[in-house]
Amino acid sequence: MTNITTKRISKQCNFYYRKGDLMPYEEDLKHEFKRHTSMAVEDLPPWTQEYGSRTKRSISRSINAFLNSELGGTVYLGVSDAGVINGLKLSLFQKDHLRVNLDNLMRRYKPPVSPERYQIHFVPVVPSDASEADAIRIFSKVQKEELSSDERRWQNGHLCQTYENCWCIPERQSLYDSTPFQDYVAEIELKPWDPEKMKWNYVTPNVNIQPFYSNEEGNVFIRTLASNVLCDDQEIVKRTRRKVAQFYNLRINSIKEQIKQLES
Ligand SMILES: [Zn+2]
Repeated sequence: MTNITTKRISKQCNFYYRKGDLMPYEEDLKHEFKRHTSMAVEDLPPWTQEYGSRTKRSISRSINAFLNSELGGTVYLGVSDAGVINGLKLSLFQKDHLRVNLDNLMRRYKPPVSPERYQIHFVPVVPSDASEADAIRIFSKVQKEELSSDERRWQNGHLCQTYENCWCIPERQSLYDSTPFQDYVAEIELKPWDPEKMKWNYVTPNVNIQPFYSNEEGNVFIRTLASNVLCDDQEIVKRTRRKVAQFYNLRINSIKEQIKQLES
């Protein structure tokens, strides 16, 4: 006899998730789940990369693929491949650590990614049996924590581009602090290219189309359904041509329209 329990599906909700719930979507064109926080390739411990059997892939690959897609996308840290919300235990300093590491990674892309294209949100994960009132209390508590002026936030920098432990990891931090850490889903949101607000002028100054970013390894990924595919130079050229053609076709059509109005 098998005992099958139906997992509850978490409502798409802006300010908290419930532990053990399922995400309201699966991994697809716009959503990717990760259980770890290794942002860049250097953050992956070598023992997960050796002997040709990679057991871990950096978050950077997914970030890169979403930046290069027209829809953008979100990487959710603290969610299993199957979409189960486990959350990550993060202190205030570890949240800062992830922010610093994301900014550092975005500066290493070519071209560098401007801050308006990405954002990291820390959404608290509340216990499965928490009441609505408890959830709101937890939410307000973490909001308040974000405003903390604890001077360790400004004095201690965070290690980037290494798998070595930063001062902010729990074992080390507990030397100073013994408060239990809140669970979070860290959502890294990559916004779609907006030609009205975003600009880059290296190759096509007159045509403000979305650039193809290469990541810290010099690779360009694109997002297809639920995976990140390495893109070669030929493919990038083909896609860029298509975007430039789209750009000029829009312009040609609008000029044709203007001519038609002048003639009538
Ligand atoms: Zn740190």
